[in-house]
Amino acid sequence: VDLGVDGDLDAGTGVDGDREGPAPVVAVVGRPNVGKSTLVNRIIGRRQAVVEDVPGVTRDRVAYDAQWNGRRFTIVDTGGWEPDAKDRAKAIAAQAEAAVATADVVLFVVDSRVGSTDVDEAAVRMLRRSAKPVLLVANKVDNATMEIESTSLWSLGLGQPYPVSALHGRGSGDLLDAVLEAMPAPAPPDTPRPRGPRRVALVGRPNVGKSSLLNRLAREERAVVDSVAGTTVDPVDSLAEIGGQTWQLVDTAGLRKRVGQASGTEYFASLRTNAAIDAAEVAIVLLDASEPIIEQDQRILSMVTEAGRALVLAFNKWDLVDEDRRYYLDREIDRELRRIPWAIKVNVSAKTGRSVDKLAPALRQALANWEKRVPTGQLNQWLTALVQATPHPVRGGRAPRVLFATQASTSPPKFVLFTTGLLDAGYVRFVERKLREEFDFEGTPVEVTVRPRK
Ligand code: GDP
Ligand code: GDP
Repeated sequence: VDLGVDGDLDAGTGVDGDREGPAPVVAVVGRPNVGKSTLVNRIIGRRQAVVEDVPGVTRDRVAYDAQWNGRRFTIVDTGGWEPDAKDRAKAIAAQAEAAVATADVVLFVVDSRVGSTDVDEAAVRMLRRSAKPVLLVANKVDNATMEIESTSLWSLGLGQPYPVSALHGRGSGDLLDAVLEAMPAPAPPDTPRPRGPRRVALVGRPNVGKSSLLNRLAREERAVVDSVAGTTVDPVDSLAEIGGQTWQLVDTAGLRKRVGQASGTEYFASLRTNAAIDAAEVAIVLLDASEPIIEQDQRILSMVTEAGRALVLAFNKWDLVDEDRRYYLDREIDRELRRIPWAIKVNVSAKTGRSVDKLAPALRQALANWEKRVPTGQLNQWLTALVQATPHPVRGGRAPRVLFATQASTSPPKFVLFTTGLLDAGYVRFVERKLREEFDFEGTPVEVTVRPRK
Protein backbone atom coordinates (compact mmCIF):
# COMPACT_ATOMS: atom_id res chain seq x y z
CA VAL A 1 0.00 0.00 0.00
CA ASP A 2 1.40 3.35 -1.01
CA LEU A 3 0.12 6.39 0.78
CA GLY A 4 -0.15 9.74 -0.89
CA VAL A 5 2.29 12.48 0.01
CA ASP A 6 -0.09 13.68 2.70
CA GLY A 7 -0.62 10.18 4.00
CA ASP A 8 -4.07 10.93 5.33
CA LEU A 9 -4.23 8.62 8.29
CA ASP A 10 -7.00 10.51 10.05
CA ALA A 11 -9.61 8.84 7.90
CA GLY A 12 -10.42 6.27 10.58
CA THR A 13 -13.80 6.26 12.19
CA GLY A 14 -12.54 6.77 15.70
CA VAL A 15 -14.99 4.15 16.88
CA ASP A 16 -13.02 3.21 19.96
CA GLY A 17 -12.27 6.79 20.90
CA ASP A 18 -13.78 6.98 24.34
CA ARG A 19 -13.41 3.44 25.50
CA GLU A 20 -11.99 2.88 28.96
CA GLY A 21 -8.29 2.25 29.32
CA PRO A 22 -5.32 3.94 27.73
CA ALA A 23 -4.75 3.57 24.01
CA PRO A 24 -2.01 1.07 23.13
CA VAL A 25 1.49 2.56 23.03
CA VAL A 26 3.80 2.13 20.05
CA ALA A 27 7.44 3.11 20.64
CA VAL A 28 9.71 3.98 17.73
CA VAL A 29 13.34 3.08 18.45
CA GLY A 30 16.52 3.09 16.40
CA ARG A 31 19.93 4.69 15.89
CA PRO A 32 20.03 8.44 15.31
CA ASN A 33 19.24 9.50 11.76
CA VAL A 34 17.54 6.33 10.56
CA GLY A 35 14.31 8.28 10.05
CA LYS A 36 12.34 7.74 13.25
CA SER A 37 10.88 11.25 13.39
CA THR A 38 10.09 11.18 9.70
CA LEU A 39 8.22 7.92 10.26
CA VAL A 40 6.32 9.30 13.27
CA ASN A 41 5.34 12.37 11.26
CA ARG A 42 4.16 10.10 8.47
CA ILE A 43 2.06 8.06 10.89
CA ILE A 44 0.45 11.00 12.65
CA GLY A 45 -0.23 12.58 9.27
CA ARG A 46 1.55 15.82 9.94
CA ARG A 47 2.20 17.74 6.80
CA GLN A 48 5.40 19.54 7.60
CA ALA A 49 7.93 17.25 9.15
CA VAL A 50 9.81 18.90 11.99
CA VAL A 51 12.87 16.85 11.18
CA GLU A 52 16.18 18.58 11.64
CA ASP A 53 18.44 17.72 8.78
CA VAL A 54 21.54 17.49 10.92
CA PRO A 55 23.13 14.08 11.48
CA GLY A 56 23.37 13.09 15.11
CA VAL A 57 20.79 15.59 16.27
CA THR A 58 18.87 13.93 19.03
CA ARG A 59 15.53 14.81 20.51
CA ASP A 60 13.72 14.06 23.67
CA ARG A 61 11.00 11.49 23.59
CA VAL A 62 7.59 12.83 22.54
CA ALA A 63 4.22 11.17 22.33
CA TYR A 64 1.39 11.77 19.84
CA ASP A 65 -2.11 10.50 19.09
CA ALA A 66 -2.34 8.38 16.00
CA GLN A 67 -5.06 6.45 14.26
CA TRP A 68 -5.18 3.71 11.65
CA ASN A 69 -8.31 1.96 10.42
CA GLY A 70 -10.32 3.45 13.26
CA ARG A 71 -7.97 2.20 15.96
CA ARG A 72 -6.42 4.86 18.16
CA PHE A 73 -2.96 4.47 19.61
CA THR A 74 -0.18 6.56 21.09
CA ILE A 75 3.08 6.75 19.22
CA VAL A 76 6.26 7.64 21.09
CA ASP A 77 9.24 9.05 19.22
CA THR A 78 12.41 8.22 21.11
CA GLY A 79 15.74 9.91 20.70
CA GLY A 80 18.47 7.89 19.02
CA TRP A 81 19.46 4.74 20.85
CA GLU A 82 23.21 4.24 21.31
CA PRO A 83 24.42 1.59 23.74
CA ASP A 84 27.75 3.13 24.80
CA ALA A 85 26.67 6.70 24.64
CA LYS A 86 27.88 9.33 27.06
CA ASP A 87 26.03 11.97 29.07
CA ARG A 88 23.10 13.42 27.17
CA ALA A 89 23.10 10.70 24.54
CA LYS A 90 23.17 8.18 27.37
CA ALA A 91 20.14 9.77 28.96
CA ILE A 92 18.35 9.56 25.65
CA ALA A 93 19.25 5.86 25.32
CA ALA A 94 17.82 5.33 28.80
CA GLN A 95 14.65 7.10 27.73
CA ALA A 96 14.40 4.85 24.69
CA GLU A 97 14.67 1.82 26.96
CA ALA A 98 12.01 3.28 29.24
CA ALA A 99 9.77 3.91 26.25
CA VAL A 100 10.21 0.29 25.18
CA ALA A 101 9.33 -0.85 28.69
CA THR A 102 6.04 1.03 28.62
CA ALA A 103 5.18 0.14 25.01
CA ASP A 104 2.77 -2.48 23.73
CA VAL A 105 4.50 -2.67 20.35
CA VAL A 106 7.99 -1.52 19.30
CA LEU A 107 8.97 -0.32 15.84
CA PHE A 108 12.68 -0.86 15.43
CA VAL A 109 13.86 1.34 12.58
CA VAL A 110 16.97 0.57 10.53
CA ASP A 111 18.41 2.57 7.65
CA SER A 112 18.26 0.02 4.82
CA ARG A 113 20.81 2.00 2.81
CA VAL A 114 23.34 1.45 5.58
CA GLY A 115 22.25 -2.09 6.54
CA SER A 116 22.59 -3.48 10.04
CA THR A 117 25.40 -2.15 12.21
CA ASP A 118 26.92 -3.24 15.54
CA VAL A 119 24.77 -0.64 17.23
CA ASP A 120 21.66 -2.13 15.62
CA GLU A 121 22.66 -5.57 16.86
CA ALA A 122 23.13 -4.26 20.40
CA ALA A 123 19.70 -2.62 20.17
CA VAL A 124 18.20 -5.95 19.10
CA ARG A 125 19.62 -7.57 22.26
CA MET A 126 18.04 -4.82 24.37
CA LEU A 127 14.72 -5.34 22.58
CA ARG A 128 14.89 -9.12 23.10
CA ARG A 129 15.30 -8.60 26.83
CA SER A 130 12.17 -6.42 26.84
CA ALA A 131 10.13 -9.34 25.44
CA LYS A 132 7.87 -6.87 23.61
CA PRO A 133 6.52 -7.52 20.11
CA VAL A 134 8.99 -5.84 17.73
CA LEU A 135 8.45 -4.96 14.10
CA LEU A 136 11.58 -4.38 12.04
CA VAL A 137 11.23 -1.33 9.83
CA ALA A 138 13.64 -1.14 6.89
CA ASN A 139 13.44 2.58 6.24
CA LYS A 140 14.57 4.67 3.27
CA VAL A 141 13.36 2.06 0.82
CA ASP A 142 12.32 4.74 -1.65
CA ASN A 143 11.81 2.41 -4.65
CA ALA A 144 11.27 -1.22 -5.66
CA THR A 145 14.94 -1.91 -6.38
CA MET A 146 15.91 -1.07 -2.82
CA GLU A 147 13.22 -3.37 -1.53
CA ILE A 148 15.25 -6.41 -2.59
CA GLU A 149 18.30 -5.11 -0.74
CA SER A 150 16.32 -4.68 2.46
CA THR A 151 15.87 -8.47 2.72
CA SER A 152 19.43 -8.68 4.08
CA LEU A 153 17.98 -7.33 7.35
CA TRP A 154 16.51 -10.78 8.06
CA SER A 155 19.95 -11.39 9.58
CA LEU A 156 18.98 -9.28 12.61
CA GLY A 157 16.76 -12.15 13.71
CA LEU A 158 13.63 -10.02 14.15
CA GLY A 159 11.77 -11.76 11.34
CA GLN A 160 10.43 -10.08 8.25
CA PRO A 161 11.67 -6.54 7.60
CA TYR A 162 8.92 -4.10 6.57
CA PRO A 163 10.30 -2.03 3.70
CA VAL A 164 9.13 1.56 4.13
CA SER A 165 9.92 5.00 2.84
CA ALA A 166 8.98 7.26 5.72
CA LEU A 167 9.79 10.23 3.52
CA HIS A 168 7.48 9.29 0.64
CA GLY A 169 4.94 7.06 2.39
CA ARG A 170 5.82 3.91 0.50
CA GLY A 171 4.94 0.75 2.46
CA SER A 172 3.67 2.55 5.55
CA GLY A 173 0.13 1.20 5.15
CA ASP A 174 1.34 -2.41 5.28
CA LEU A 175 3.47 -1.55 8.28
CA LEU A 176 0.51 -0.03 10.13
CA ASP A 177 -1.65 -3.07 9.35
CA ALA A 178 1.05 -5.17 11.01
CA VAL A 179 1.22 -2.76 13.98
CA LEU A 180 -2.52 -3.19 14.58
CA GLU A 181 -2.14 -6.96 14.43
CA ALA A 182 0.64 -6.89 17.01
CA MET A 183 -1.43 -4.76 19.41
CA PRO A 184 -3.44 -6.22 22.26
CA ALA A 185 -7.01 -6.93 21.13
CA PRO A 186 -9.33 -3.95 21.53
CA ALA A 187 -12.15 -4.06 24.05
CA PRO A 188 -15.54 -4.79 22.46
CA PRO A 189 -17.20 -1.58 21.30
CA ASP A 190 -19.81 0.04 23.51
CA THR A 191 -23.18 0.49 21.90
CA PRO A 192 -23.46 4.23 21.54
CA ARG A 193 -26.44 5.82 23.26
CA PRO A 194 -28.76 7.70 20.97
CA ARG A 195 -28.06 11.41 21.40
CA GLY A 196 -31.24 12.81 22.92
CA PRO A 197 -31.41 15.57 25.49
CA ARG A 198 -28.56 15.63 28.02
CA ARG A 199 -29.38 13.68 31.16
CA VAL A 200 -29.40 15.63 34.40
CA ALA A 201 -29.87 14.39 37.97
CA LEU A 202 -31.52 16.87 40.29
CA VAL A 203 -30.37 15.80 43.74
CA GLY A 204 -29.99 17.10 47.26
CA ARG A 205 -31.02 16.27 50.79
CA PRO A 206 -34.69 16.59 51.82
CA ASN A 207 -36.13 20.11 51.92
CA VAL A 208 -33.46 21.86 49.85
CA GLY A 209 -36.12 22.60 47.23
CA LYS A 210 -35.85 19.84 44.62
CA SER A 211 -39.58 19.47 43.95
CA SER A 212 -40.01 23.24 43.94
CA LEU A 213 -37.28 23.58 41.32
CA LEU A 214 -38.68 20.67 39.33
CA ASN A 215 -42.11 22.30 39.30
CA ARG A 216 -40.56 25.46 37.94
CA LEU A 217 -38.57 23.69 35.25
CA ALA A 218 -40.45 20.62 34.10
CA ARG A 219 -42.90 20.65 31.25
CA GLU A 220 -46.47 20.00 32.20
CA GLU A 221 -47.29 17.26 29.71
CA ARG A 222 -45.46 14.00 30.34
CA ALA A 223 -44.02 13.55 26.88
CA VAL A 224 -42.81 10.00 26.51
CA VAL A 225 -41.04 10.53 23.21
CA ASP A 226 -38.99 13.64 22.63
CA SER A 227 -39.03 15.19 19.17
CA VAL A 228 -35.25 14.87 19.04
CA ALA A 229 -34.40 11.74 17.05
CA GLY A 230 -37.34 9.84 18.55
CA THR A 231 -35.48 9.23 21.76
CA THR A 232 -37.48 7.46 24.40
CA VAL A 233 -37.66 9.20 27.71
CA ASP A 234 -38.13 6.91 30.65
CA PRO A 235 -41.54 7.49 32.29
CA VAL A 236 -39.81 8.19 35.60
CA ASP A 237 -37.92 11.08 33.92
CA SER A 238 -39.12 14.57 33.06
CA LEU A 239 -38.20 16.87 30.24
CA ALA A 240 -37.32 20.39 31.28
CA GLU A 241 -36.70 23.59 29.40
CA ILE A 242 -33.77 25.52 30.82
CA GLY A 243 -32.10 28.38 28.99
CA GLY A 244 -33.73 27.53 25.67
CA GLN A 245 -32.56 23.93 25.70
CA THR A 246 -34.37 20.69 26.51
CA TRP A 247 -32.88 18.61 29.30
CA GLN A 248 -33.87 15.21 30.59
CA LEU A 249 -34.21 15.26 34.36
CA VAL A 250 -33.69 11.64 35.35
CA ASP A 251 -35.77 9.85 37.96
CA THR A 252 -37.96 12.73 39.00
CA ALA A 253 -40.93 10.41 39.62
CA GLY A 254 -39.79 10.12 43.21
CA LEU A 255 -39.69 13.87 43.58
CA ARG A 256 -43.15 14.25 42.14
CA LYS A 257 -44.59 11.62 44.44
CA ARG A 258 -42.28 12.69 47.24
CA VAL A 259 -41.28 9.05 47.71
CA GLY A 260 -38.09 9.83 49.54
CA GLN A 261 -39.79 11.72 52.32
CA ALA A 262 -43.00 9.68 52.43
CA SER A 263 -41.04 6.53 53.13
CA GLY A 264 -39.14 8.42 55.74
CA THR A 265 -35.96 6.44 55.42
CA GLU A 266 -32.84 8.26 54.43
CA TYR A 267 -31.42 4.97 53.22
CA PHE A 268 -34.11 4.61 50.59
CA ALA A 269 -33.72 8.20 49.48
CA SER A 270 -29.98 7.80 49.13
CA LEU A 271 -30.32 4.66 46.99
CA ARG A 272 -32.62 6.61 44.75
CA THR A 273 -30.20 9.53 44.61
CA ASN A 274 -27.36 7.20 43.68
CA ALA A 275 -29.40 5.62 40.90
CA ALA A 276 -30.32 9.02 39.49
CA ILE A 277 -26.68 10.13 39.51
CA ASP A 278 -25.66 6.91 37.77
CA ALA A 279 -28.22 7.41 35.04
CA ALA A 280 -27.23 11.04 34.48
CA GLU A 281 -24.32 12.72 32.75
CA VAL A 282 -24.35 15.76 34.97
CA ALA A 283 -25.79 16.34 38.44
CA ILE A 284 -27.26 19.52 39.85
CA VAL A 285 -26.65 19.21 43.57
CA LEU A 286 -29.03 21.51 45.38
CA LEU A 287 -27.88 23.07 48.63
CA ASP A 288 -30.02 25.18 50.93
CA ALA A 289 -28.13 28.49 50.95
CA SER A 290 -30.06 29.63 54.01
CA GLU A 291 -28.68 26.78 56.13
CA PRO A 292 -25.23 25.39 56.93
CA ILE A 293 -23.71 22.76 54.64
CA ILE A 294 -24.06 19.45 56.49
CA GLU A 295 -22.82 15.89 56.34
CA GLN A 296 -25.78 14.77 54.25
CA ASP A 297 -24.90 17.35 51.57
CA GLN A 298 -21.32 16.09 51.59
CA ARG A 299 -22.45 12.51 51.08
CA ILE A 300 -24.39 13.46 47.98
CA LEU A 301 -21.44 15.43 46.61
CA SER A 302 -19.23 12.38 47.13
CA MET A 303 -21.72 10.22 45.25
CA VAL A 304 -21.39 12.54 42.26
CA THR A 305 -17.60 12.68 42.25
CA GLU A 306 -17.25 8.96 42.87
CA ALA A 307 -19.64 8.22 40.01
CA GLY A 308 -17.49 10.50 37.85
CA ARG A 309 -20.33 12.77 36.78
CA ALA A 310 -20.12 16.44 35.88
CA LEU A 311 -21.31 18.69 38.69
CA VAL A 312 -23.18 21.95 39.09
CA LEU A 313 -23.79 23.28 42.60
CA ALA A 314 -27.04 25.20 42.92
CA PHE A 315 -27.39 27.30 46.07
CA ASN A 316 -31.16 27.43 46.39
CA LYS A 317 -33.37 29.71 48.51
CA TRP A 318 -31.15 32.63 47.58
CA ASP A 319 -34.14 34.89 48.33
CA LEU A 320 -33.50 34.11 52.02
CA VAL A 321 -29.80 35.01 51.92
CA ASP A 322 -28.99 38.41 53.41
CA GLU A 323 -25.58 39.99 53.84
CA ASP A 324 -24.98 38.33 57.17
CA ARG A 325 -25.77 34.88 55.89
CA ARG A 326 -23.70 35.53 52.76
CA TYR A 327 -20.67 36.23 54.94
CA TYR A 328 -20.97 32.91 56.77
CA LEU A 329 -21.86 31.03 53.61
CA ASP A 330 -18.65 32.17 51.89
CA ARG A 331 -16.68 30.81 54.83
CA GLU A 332 -18.60 27.54 54.81
CA ILE A 333 -17.93 27.15 51.10
CA ASP A 334 -14.18 27.66 51.65
CA ARG A 335 -14.16 25.15 54.45
CA GLU A 336 -16.69 22.53 53.40
CA LEU A 337 -16.23 22.49 49.64
CA ARG A 338 -12.42 22.54 49.64
CA ARG A 339 -12.35 19.12 47.96
CA ILE A 340 -14.24 20.38 44.95
CA PRO A 341 -12.97 23.88 44.17
CA TRP A 342 -13.67 23.08 40.52
CA ALA A 343 -17.47 22.78 40.95
CA ILE A 344 -19.50 25.42 39.09
CA LYS A 345 -21.72 27.40 41.47
CA VAL A 346 -25.03 29.07 40.68
CA ASN A 347 -27.25 30.97 43.13
CA VAL A 348 -30.92 30.35 42.46
CA SER A 349 -34.35 30.59 43.98
CA ALA A 350 -36.92 27.99 43.06
CA LYS A 351 -39.49 30.18 44.78
CA THR A 352 -38.94 33.40 42.82
CA GLY A 353 -37.35 31.87 39.73
CA ARG A 354 -34.21 33.93 40.24
CA SER A 355 -31.27 32.91 38.02
CA VAL A 356 -32.80 29.55 37.25
CA ASP A 357 -31.85 30.04 33.59
CA LYS A 358 -28.20 30.37 34.63
CA LEU A 359 -28.28 26.65 35.30
CA ALA A 360 -28.17 26.05 31.53
CA PRO A 361 -24.78 27.67 30.75
CA ALA A 362 -23.38 26.03 33.89
CA LEU A 363 -24.61 22.60 32.75
CA ARG A 364 -23.25 23.16 29.24
CA GLN A 365 -19.83 24.21 30.51
CA ALA A 366 -19.62 21.29 32.94
CA LEU A 367 -20.57 18.81 30.21
CA ALA A 368 -18.14 20.29 27.68
CA ASN A 369 -15.26 19.91 30.15
CA TRP A 370 -16.49 16.46 31.16
CA GLU A 371 -16.17 15.40 27.53
CA LYS A 372 -12.96 17.32 26.83
CA ARG A 373 -10.06 15.54 25.16
CA VAL A 374 -6.54 16.96 25.31
CA PRO A 375 -4.47 15.91 22.28
CA THR A 376 -1.51 13.76 23.35
CA GLY A 377 1.06 16.03 21.68
CA GLN A 378 -0.25 19.12 23.49
CA LEU A 379 -0.54 17.21 26.77
CA ASN A 380 3.06 16.05 26.61
CA GLN A 381 4.48 19.40 25.59
CA TRP A 382 2.88 20.87 28.68
CA LEU A 383 3.87 17.92 30.89
CA THR A 384 7.52 17.96 29.80
CA ALA A 385 7.80 21.62 30.80
CA LEU A 386 5.99 20.97 34.09
CA VAL A 387 8.15 18.05 35.24
CA GLN A 388 11.28 19.89 34.18
CA ALA A 389 10.33 22.96 36.21
CA THR A 390 9.10 20.91 39.19
CA PRO A 391 10.52 17.40 39.22
CA HIS A 392 9.30 14.74 41.61
CA PRO A 393 11.03 15.13 45.00
CA VAL A 394 13.95 12.81 45.69
CA ARG A 395 13.12 9.98 48.11
CA GLY A 396 15.95 7.84 49.44
CA GLY A 397 18.34 9.16 46.80
CA ARG A 398 16.01 8.47 43.88
CA ALA A 399 13.26 10.34 42.14
CA PRO A 400 10.78 8.58 39.87
CA ARG A 401 10.53 10.23 36.47
CA VAL A 402 7.37 10.95 34.53
CA LEU A 403 7.98 9.70 30.99
CA PHE A 404 4.82 10.78 29.23
CA ALA A 405 1.04 10.88 29.58
CA THR A 406 -2.06 10.11 27.61
CA GLN A 407 -5.72 10.86 28.16
CA ALA A 408 -7.22 7.40 28.42
CA SER A 409 -10.84 8.44 28.27
CA THR A 410 -13.37 11.24 28.62
CA SER A 411 -16.64 11.54 30.56
CA PRO A 412 -14.95 12.14 32.97
CA PRO A 413 -11.42 12.89 31.75
CA LYS A 414 -8.96 10.21 32.86
CA PHE A 415 -5.24 10.60 32.43
CA VAL A 416 -2.49 8.01 32.72
CA LEU A 417 1.05 9.01 33.64
CA PHE A 418 3.70 6.58 32.44
CA THR A 419 6.55 6.70 34.93
CA THR A 420 9.72 4.95 36.04
CA GLY A 421 8.22 4.28 39.49
CA LEU A 422 5.40 5.07 41.87
CA LEU A 423 4.74 8.76 42.51
CA ASP A 424 3.93 10.45 45.81
CA ALA A 425 0.21 11.11 46.17
CA GLY A 426 1.05 14.79 46.72
CA TYR A 427 2.89 14.96 43.41
CA VAL A 428 -0.03 13.34 41.59
CA ARG A 429 -2.35 15.96 43.13
CA PHE A 430 0.07 18.67 42.01
CA VAL A 431 -0.03 17.36 38.44
CA GLU A 432 -3.83 17.24 38.56
CA ARG A 433 -4.06 20.80 39.87
CA LYS A 434 -1.74 22.07 37.15
CA LEU A 435 -3.64 20.05 34.54
CA ARG A 436 -6.84 21.78 35.62
CA GLU A 437 -5.17 25.20 35.47
CA GLU A 438 -3.83 24.59 31.98
CA PHE A 439 -6.74 22.88 30.24
CA ASP A 440 -9.83 24.05 32.24
CA PHE A 441 -11.79 21.19 33.72
CA GLU A 442 -14.24 23.34 35.65
CA GLY A 443 -17.34 21.34 36.53
CA THR A 444 -15.88 17.87 36.13
CA PRO A 445 -13.96 15.39 38.24
CA VAL A 446 -10.63 14.41 36.70
CA GLU A 447 -8.78 11.17 37.35
CA VAL A 448 -5.00 10.89 37.20
CA THR A 449 -3.49 7.43 37.55
CA VAL A 450 0.12 6.31 37.45
CA ARG A 451 1.42 3.41 35.43
CA PRO A 452 4.98 2.63 36.51
CA ARG A 453 6.98 0.73 33.91
CA LYS A 454 7.25 -2.97 34.55
P1 GDP B 1 15.83 10.14 13.40
O1 GDP B 1 17.07 10.76 13.96
O2 GDP B 1 15.89 8.66 13.42
O3 GDP B 1 14.56 10.66 13.99
O4 GDP B 1 15.83 10.49 11.81
P2 GDP B 1 15.06 11.66 11.06
O5 GDP B 1 13.63 11.38 10.94
O6 GDP B 1 15.50 12.95 11.65
O7 GDP B 1 15.70 11.47 9.59
C1 GDP B 1 17.08 11.58 9.35
C2 GDP B 1 17.31 11.94 7.89
O8 GDP B 1 16.86 10.87 7.06
C3 GDP B 1 16.54 13.16 7.42
O9 GDP B 1 17.36 13.89 6.55
C4 GDP B 1 15.35 12.57 6.68
O10 GDP B 1 14.87 13.45 5.68
C5 GDP B 1 15.94 11.34 6.06
N1 GDP B 1 14.92 10.31 5.83
C6 GDP B 1 14.02 9.84 6.70
N2 GDP B 1 13.25 8.88 6.13
C7 GDP B 1 13.67 8.76 4.85
C8 GDP B 1 13.26 7.93 3.73
O11 GDP B 1 12.33 7.13 3.81
N3 GDP B 1 13.95 8.06 2.58
C9 GDP B 1 14.97 8.94 2.45
N4 GDP B 1 15.58 9.02 1.28
N5 GDP B 1 15.38 9.74 3.48
C10 GDP B 1 14.75 9.65 4.65
P1 GDP C 1 -37.35 18.88 48.47
O1 GDP C 1 -37.59 18.07 49.69
O2 GDP C 1 -35.88 19.02 48.19
O3 GDP C 1 -38.11 18.46 47.27
O4 GDP C 1 -37.80 20.37 48.82
P2 GDP C 1 -39.18 21.11 48.52
O5 GDP C 1 -39.21 21.56 47.10
O6 GDP C 1 -40.30 20.30 49.00
O7 GDP C 1 -38.98 22.40 49.40
C1 GDP C 1 -38.89 22.35 50.80
C2 GDP C 1 -39.37 23.66 51.38
O8 GDP C 1 -38.53 24.73 50.95
C3 GDP C 1 -40.78 24.00 50.91
O9 GDP C 1 -41.47 24.61 51.98
C4 GDP C 1 -40.53 25.03 49.79
O10 GDP C 1 -41.60 25.91 49.63
C5 GDP C 1 -39.29 25.72 50.30
N1 GDP C 1 -38.50 26.28 49.20
C6 GDP C 1 -38.06 25.61 48.11
N2 GDP C 1 -37.32 26.44 47.33
C7 GDP C 1 -37.31 27.65 47.93
C8 GDP C 1 -36.72 28.92 47.62
O11 GDP C 1 -36.03 29.12 46.61
N3 GDP C 1 -36.89 29.93 48.53
C9 GDP C 1 -37.63 29.76 49.66
N4 GDP C 1 -37.75 30.80 50.44
N5 GDP C 1 -38.19 28.58 49.97
C10 GDP C 1 -38.05 27.53 49.12
